Amino acid sequence: MAARPPSFMIAEVIVDIAHSEVDKIFDYVCGEDISAGMRVAVPFGRSAATGFVMRVKEKSDFPQEKLKRIYRAEEDFPALNAECLALAKKIAARYRCPLALTLRLFLPAEMRTGKVSERYRTVALAAEGEFDTRRAPQQTACLAHLKECGEEDAARLRERFGAGAVNALVKKGAILLEERRQLRDPYRGIGKREEVHVLTPAQQQAVERISQTDKTVTLLHGVTGSGKTEIYLTLIARELEAGRTAIFLVPEISLTPQMLSKLRGRFGGEAAILHSGLSAGERFDEWQRLRRGEAKIAIGARSAVFAPLENIGVIVIDEEHDGSYSSESSPRYNTFDIALLRAQYNGCKLVLGSATPAVETYRRAVEGEFELVTLPNRINARPLPDVCIVDMRREVRRGNASPFSALLQEKLSACLGAGNQAILFLNRRGFSQKAICRDCGYVAQCEHCDVALTYHREENCLKCHYCGARYHMPLTCPSCGGKHIRYMGTGTQRVVSELQALYPNARILRMDVDTTSGKEGHYRILKQFSAREADILVGTQMVAKGHDFPAVTLVGILDADMSLHFPDYRSGERTFQLVTQVAGRSGRAEEKGEVVLQTYDPENYILRFAAQYDYLGFYRHEIGLRAAAMFPPFCKIVRVMVTGEEEKSALAALKAVYERLQRLYNAHAESFLFFNKMHAPIKRIQNKYRYQVLMRLTEPALLREVYAACAEVQEKNVLVYVEENPSNLS
Ligand code: ADP
Ligand code: ZN
Repeated sequence: MAARPPSFMIAEVIVDIAHSEVDKIFDYVCGEDISAGMRVAVPFGRSAATGFVMRVKEKSDFPQEKLKRIYRAEEDFPALNAECLALAKKIAARYRCPLALTLRLFLPAEMRTGKVSERYRTVALAAEGEFDTRRAPQQTACLAHLKECGEEDAARLRERFGAGAVNALVKKGAILLEERRQLRDPYRGIGKREEVHVLTPAQQQAVERISQTDKTVTLLHGVTGSGKTEIYLTLIARELEAGRTAIFLVPEISLTPQMLSKLRGRFGGEAAILHSGLSAGERFDEWQRLRRGEAKIAIGARSAVFAPLENIGVIVIDEEHDGSYSSESSPRYNTFDIALLRAQYNGCKLVLGSATPAVETYRRAVEGEFELVTLPNRINARPLPDVCIVDMRREVRRGNASPFSALLQEKLSACLGAGNQAILFLNRRGFSQKAICRDCGYVAQCEHCDVALTYHREENCLKCHYCGARYHMPLTCPSCGGKHIRYMGTGTQRVVSELQALYPNARILRMDVDTTSGKEGHYRILKQFSAREADILVGTQMVAKGHDFPAVTLVGILDADMSLHFPDYRSGERTFQLVTQVAGRSGRAEEKGEVVLQTYDPENYILRFAAQYDYLGFYRHEIGLRAAAMFPPFCKIVRVMVTGEEEKSALAALKAVYERLQRLYNAHAESFLFFNKMHAPIKRIQNKYRYQVLMRLTEPALLREVYAACAEVQEKNVLVYVEENPSNLS
């Protein structure tokens, strides 16, 4: 006799509260409408909570009468598929954080806060049959229009023929109204159908090698303009044809409208775009399209690695060296790690692309862990722009105090004279760095953060770049009462005003953090420059990204060595990457490009290699230095951060975590190159005191223990977290 299936089931639920005390499975009774991956409302303690169903089973170890019942499903679909559930568990184990926290990564934030709903619109259709509209010309016209076009948006119909006519027709039964779900499409209209390039033999070979290698990961190392994008698109198109899906990650999608237009042009509605610049509703709708399988390619910044796709055929990480692939909020995941887990789960390829791969990535490729595919030449053998190094010390000696060398001025005049465009790049933001008293050396500082303030001329105020606080510009020095407060350093604003004085007729655009607020900020400026509404674009890091402006024939790097002098083992690598990337913006079309690189350190080996586009030379030199100094990839730099508003509790947490780590150190001293606790370099940010334990580990396996030690320390209102090879040690 077959056993009757039970009329109720048991759901294993993780409550959506990110606290280690509730980070365990709770059993609930549920109906048959509940399945794994759904979000549900459940009774929890004395109130209600949202939870994730991890699994549905027939029996609980607890007596059934002790179990509470699920109130309801939050949605009528599982928000998380089987892979996402499995991955969330792995990530929680890897970073030792509550499962609720990693499950959230897979959802659009707005879904949890309940601020979005699906949008509907009303469509009007003409009904079958004859209807009398003889004495109502508007109704006659309306019906004729509707019969001709089949259907029409009801709102538009009312606008055109009047609400009275439409309502009358509805009453007569001549018009039928239908509610339809409407998706918001944030990029409608972007991307015309683009012609598909026939691949060059080099591109074709790259595609074949990536497809055929038995390694999961391939590093595609191709100089700027070598046609990497076309290779990604071909790989993606192949997978779509085979019925699979794809993830395409870019560092900052709002900075690369051209990439968007290319993808939309090639794949149309099959591409869904996920990024922070979209409205909550737009993001939710794009996510839904992916989840339902209506869209097959997820494109976006690092969070798109969590896209709700099944049957993934390829994952691409473009500009893999970019710092934005490390998350800065808990859990501090690395996008590559997650992408690799997904590639392994789906048995698909993971492609990393860059003109300037991270030293650590390149080493893994030359050591054979990754397949290495190199594209040494630009498409159509277009030459890379020549780079002239200018010694700025000589300019100063010659009495040129402006930010532009004589050579740069000469080349700018020629470039503008020929009707071409130029980009000037500088490594900072704001008008001036600091407000400093010339009499006593006082530097204006933020009251909450213990860092120097930055002067902003447009608003005539001082701002803290860490917390955003604004201050009046002091007229007298608060320390000595002197009247000689001055600004130090050069910023984009000053460059623009000096440039305008030199070239009164030139149209100049400025692009930095201060001019690009909001979703449209970058896009607007880039579009203007691309439409040739300006001659010169002055900007910070953002102008170095993968833009393709065919009319740009000159790039000026105003202070190439600025980024060399940061207390970071990667500052050489960063500088090489920045210089190469920004130089790559020049001469992308028929006319040959030029680059003027200004520096106070012209013999610097990094700049020399960058000027020659010699990545391999740079890599060999750099890896030698890292090996000698025992820096990553020869060790792992691990920082445990402890922050809190109350100094006492922060110190208590620091002590607790340090004691645990000390035990680890005592047991494995041979694997520690460095181990100490101290103030963080910036002692306070946003009123939070900051302490750190700094370690350099030669044994990566010890990381697990470090995460475990931090997870054990629970001090009220104190945050304890781990950073691996942090890019910013401030
Ligand atoms: P990368 O991503 O390596 O910087 P892109 O993919 O942007 O390079 O290609 C550089 C330029 O070459 C683009 O304008 C692109 O349209 C063009 N291009 C790429 N592949 C081909 C091809 N096979 N034939 C002709 N033009 C191509
Ligand atoms: Zn501040």
